[in-house]
This record gives sequence, structure tokens and C-alpha cells, in this order.
Amino acid sequence: MKVKVISILEDNYMYLVIQEETREAIAVDPAVPHRLLEIVRREGVSLQAVLTTHHHWDHARGNENLAKEIPGLKVYGGDDRIGALTDKVSHAQELKFGTINVRCLFTPCHTSGHMCYFMWEDDCTDAPAVFTGDTLFVGGCGRFFEGTAEQMHKNLTEVLGCLPKDTKIFCGHEYTIKNLKFALKVEPHNEKVREMLCWARARDDDDKPTVPSTLEEEFEYNPFLRLSEESVQKFTGKTDPIEVLRVLRKEKDNFKKPKERVPPHALLALEWGLLRP
Ligand SMILES: [Zn+2]
Repeated sequence: MKVKVISILEDNYMYLVIQEETREAIAVDPAVPHRLLEIVRREGVSLQAVLTTHHHWDHARGNENLAKEIPGLKVYGGDDRIGALTDKVSHAQELKFGTINVRCLFTPCHTSGHMCYFMWEDDCTDAPAVFTGDTLFVGGCGRFFEGTAEQMHKNLTEVLGCLPKDTKIFCGHEYTIKNLKFALKVEPHNEKVREMLCWARARDDDDKPTVPSTLEEEFEYNPFLRLSEESVQKFTGKTDPIEVLRVLRKEKDNFKKPKERVPPHALLALEWGLLRP
């Protein structure tokens, strides 16, 4: 199973998961369809299905166009607001595409219908992968737009946090540097955070992605997965893990807010002719 990481829009990722023997493929959050189709053609694969993490524009915008281009294309997701949805999935539901297995993990909070997708391949020793959309990021977690700290706590500890430690984390955005700057504010003495920030900056200089990380690594530097650490509790002034998470997210929301500017997505959308002026 090969995962192609494709940078799109300002800082989003879409993914193409390729089953190497059969040359069949699955796309995750393909928000720029013409780029995806170009890669599908170049790789000589046939696109079987689209998995959508949530209905936000920068994740689901491409579904309708892809469905038009590929008649019969299956579009999976956990929210009726997802464009061109053909199959609504629920928690723990398993899907099979050739030798690739997908377990749908319901992770409501960023949006009320958010799904993550855990993937592994039959008879393959590669580590499994999880596509976390805007729920878990490298070094951070998503905003609580339609949910509560209780829900995100469950998502991070029970749903994602209990996956095998070597699971590769493929998230929806390249927010790593910003997240780690915040992580350093939370835990100024955490050497892992410093190391990771240094590495992420070097990746950025080379214009390379910081995904995937692994769950095991995330536990070392991601404050949102370190709610019982003394340093994180001290930063938040709380000890109850849900309260720690609530305060962390609030602090992150207020952490170096960027200045008011033209929304970059609007500019790119115009450039690509997705919006009509
Ligand atoms: Zn989102």
C-alpha cells in the first residue's frame, strides 16, 4: 500500500492510496480533482472510491466533479452535508477495496459528522495508516467547531489514541510548525518538541511535508495527547483531562492570531476558476 501525499490549496493535504499489485486506488479528501486525476493517470491506477473526512470546502469540494468524471464512483463519508455522497458510513464500519481494509472511525467535534479512516493491507507487514482529517494533526488537534471537549477527548484517547503505536498519521493540513510553536509554549522543557520543531522547519525550507508521523511520536510532543503530563496540567492549571483539553484548545485558539487578510482560499479558488467572479 503506497500513500501519495499531495499538497493542495494553501496548506491542505489530499491523499491517493495505491494498491500496488492491482493498481487500484482510493482518494482521501480530493479537494482539487483535476490534480488528483492527473496523478491517477500518471500513476496508471484506477480510482475506486473517495473517502471524505468531513464536509468542509477544503476537503469535500472536489467530490461532485470527480463523480461526474468517473461514473459509478463511490463517495464515502459520515455526514449528509458531504457533496456527491453515495455511501454514508458509521463508526467501526469496515470497507474492503481489494487487499486494502478500511475501518471508519467516527470522531465528531471539529464537525458533527467527522470520520477518520484507519487502513491496513492484507498479508502486508507495512505499518497501518490513519487519515485523521481535521481531528488530529501532527503536533496538534482540530478546532471544536461543532462539538465539545468531551467528544474530542474521546476521539483522541479512545478512538485514535488506542490504535497501534506504529500507525502512520496522515492529517488534513500542514500545520506542524504552528502547532509545535504552541506545544513549546505549553512544554518549554520538552526536548522532543524542540527537536521536532527544528526538523519541521528544515522540511519547510525544503518544501517537503511533515506527514506522516506515527502515533507513538505524537504521544511524545503533541500536547493534546499528553493531557496527564504534569507540565501540560501545570500550563492549563487543571488536572481533569477533559478540562486540560478544553483549556489547551482555548489557548491554542488565541495563540498568535494571524492578522486580518484576504482569505487565501478565496484567492486560489478565483485563480483556478472554481469561483466565478
Ligand atoms: Zn475542517
